[in-house]
Amino acid sequence: MRRVVALSGGVGGARFLRGLVRATDPAGVTVIGNVGDDVDVLGLHVSPDLDSVLYALAGVSDDERGWGRADETWTTFEEAGRLGGESWFQLGDRDLGLHLVRTQALRAGEPLSAITARLAVAFGVEARLLPATDDRLRTWIDTPGASYPFQEWFVARRHRDEVDRVRFEGEETAEPAPGVIEAIEEAELIVVCPSNPFVSIWPILAVSEIRWALERRRVRSVAVSPLVGGRAIKGPADRMLERLAGGTDPGRVATCYPGVIDMLVFDESERDAAGAVELQGVRPVPAPTLMNDEGAATALAETVLACA
Ligand code: GDP
Ligand code: CA
Repeated sequence: MRRVVALSGGVGGARFLRGLVRATDPAGVTVIGNVGDDVDVLGLHVSPDLDSVLYALAGVSDDERGWGRADETWTTFEEAGRLGGESWFQLGDRDLGLHLVRTQALRAGEPLSAITARLAVAFGVEARLLPATDDRLRTWIDTPGASYPFQEWFVARRHRDEVDRVRFEGEETAEPAPGVIEAIEEAELIVVCPSNPFVSIWPILAVSEIRWALERRRVRSVAVSPLVGGRAIKGPADRMLERLAGGTDPGRVATCYPGVIDMLVFDESERDAAGAVELQGVRPVPAPTLMNDEGAATALAETVLACA
């Protein structure tokens, strides 16, 4: 397999991508990353999902904590908090270095895609990492009580509120970042990573030109379910599926991607759900999907590559 395009959120996507770049030539991998989670903290532009992918592929992520960098310290963040600065969104010292560089470049007019490419080179990442869009696209969460910007709901409120609807501010005008459409058109396989469908993949699909390019694909598109046994490994994906898709079985996961996938890889423990996936017009591929270690992630990536 020479050219693979992968749509990814943060941690779940990054775990899978680490396996993907071991299972195939990283130089042929293009990751299209979610920017709906992007947030301004302490005057800095933070792109949590792009950074999770970047740090994971560079081998500098903190796998215990599940986000941010290994060998992290928190001096700047603690001092800012002590001085009355924002302290709801944790930023480590090493992490802050990246945010400073990115924010300065953005203020100087450099597009997010260009600075992301520079950062990937600086980290020695061979895969290409593209934000879905250079334009401002922000996820909003409508709950029974109020609407929240994504990070306020996810981090500050610990995603405790039930979700009635997910919206993407800027979706009407957001254009794909340079290279995104070409990568999709030249791909030999399209992969939707085991990320949260609603808040990691939908914001990418909200860029209409990206969705159209995927809809007119001539190669297979394979999604990996982020749920194992109807449960999210971490985060609110299972609760969101229950409420927004009416259940958490693989058939419901398939309904999240109408017209953009041909196959769904889901956990072998849920084999019985194959018929429900087929009913959605999607070919079921039961396989081990728990990525406990790099070997498991690589095996999962091999399963996905074999779908081509
Ligand atoms: P975020 O942006 O950091 O929230 O990360 P993603 O949206 O990319 O990934 C979150 C999803 O990854 C959650 O729904 C998890 O259930 C899923 N996930 C995490 N680890 C695994 C795993 O080992 N296997 C599978 N199939 N999904 C996983
Ligand atoms: Ca995310």
